Amino acid sequence: MSKPERIRTKKLLIVDDDPLQIALLSKLLADTEYKILTASNGAEAMHIVLGEEPRVIITDWNLPEMGGIQLSSALRGHEGVRFVYIIMMTGNSGSQGMIEALNAGADDFIRKPVKQAELLARLRVADRIVCAESDLAKRTREVHRINAEMALTHQRLNQANEQLRRMATTDELTGMLNRREAMNRLEQLWISMGRYNQLFSCIMIDIDYFKRFNDTHGHAAGDRVLKATAQVLRMNCRKSDLVCRVGGEEFLILCPGVGTKGAGVCAEHLRSAVESTAVDYEGTPLMVTISLGIAEATKALPNYDELLKHADEALYASKDAGRNRTTCAPLIGEALPPLQGPREDFAVSNRK
Ligand code: GH3
Ligand code: MG
Ligand code: MG
Repeated sequence: MSKPERIRTKKLLIVDDDPLQIALLSKLLADTEYKILTASNGAEAMHIVLGEEPRVIITDWNLPEMGGIQLSSALRGHEGVRFVYIIMMTGNSGSQGMIEALNAGADDFIRKPVKQAELLARLRVADRIVCAESDLAKRTREVHRINAEMALTHQRLNQANEQLRRMATTDELTGMLNRREAMNRLEQLWISMGRYNQLFSCIMIDIDYFKRFNDTHGHAAGDRVLKATAQVLRMNCRKSDLVCRVGGEEFLILCPGVGTKGAGVCAEHLRSAVESTAVDYEGTPLMVTISLGIAEATKALPNYDELLKHADEALYASKDAGRNRTTCAPLIGEALPPLQGPREDFAVSNRK
């Protein structure tokens, strides 16, 4: 009965220009689990290494064109070559050659004539090193994979956090800061005012007769008016102003570095911008007006709630006086400043 063919998965490349030497080594290795590949010079060996990826190379020192030393250096210097264990073979018995071979990148050295027991012992060392190297390479790849996965997870987490932060601070319909964020910002301005005397004012805004847009044209028209008005307010404010939606059709603008006078100019600018911009709702132009109330932050006020109350009172004074106008809350101890905006000529097209 013939012996079953051994499955040889490990590849070993013999590089020698002497066919007899190749035949001799192949015979010595006949009972090992190596599949033997052969090359007769360095360039051919390089080609086989790149294509077949042998685990071990036994190369002669003297080869035509590219010798064993150059082949070792080329293999070690080539980024695309997987680790291969190199055994340099020579008839030279001096230690100088061995040092040169090891320096060039060879892992081991064997002298001719090659003895089978020594060759097999050296191949067992080669096998241990190659196994350890491939185990390390596998672990390194795994570490890289985990790192890449972690980087991706980190990036997704950052995006999710950013989205959460935006959702927590922004009003969905208008894209303005929401009430919660408005109160946070107001608190920060209030603290800076107390600590560094940094001036600021609030402009409280309410759309006039807003309910009528809903009642006459439907809720979608009301939403359209809210969005369009928010955009007009945003576009007509300074970049440093904080534009917030604090209620259904109520907005708050925080103006850092600005007192009553500056806020009054800003408020009138906003009022006239809204008044002069028709909101297009499915082909129907809707005319919108707003009433505004201004209050300047001062240390005479006990807290920012009181500041908001003053701005609200000024806003309701504008409503009481006929809407589409601006009122400034009096500073403590002063009389109410005159109203700004149209009075007798007040006419809004959404009035029934
Ligand atoms: P005034 O001039 O006195 O401010 O009158 P108004 O009609 O503007 O005020 P009122 O408080 O009577 O009505 C506000 C309406 O705003 C009532 C509510 O149904 C509507 N509203 C609140 N939030 C939204 C919203 O997000 N979308 C729409 N379409 N309507 C809203
Ligand atoms: Mg209103
Ligand atoms: Mg309101």
